[in-house]
Amino acid sequence: MISVSTSSSAAGTCPRCGEAVPTHRLLIEYETTDGRSAFAECPTCDDVVHPEPA
Ligand SMILES: [Zn+2]
Repeated sequence: MISVSTSSSAAGTCPRCGEAVPTHRLLIEYETTDGRSAFAECPTCDDVVHPEPA
């Protein structure tokens, strides 16, 4: 597994494993009454998660 530092382009952190989720893994972004939210595919879990803001 190749790990590249992408801290400057992280969409947030995975609520499951705590790893940074890069923006290129974002699947969808949407607005909610609480602000912006998104779904992304975590490269570590290899599953769709809801990234937490860093
Ligand atoms: Zn994860």
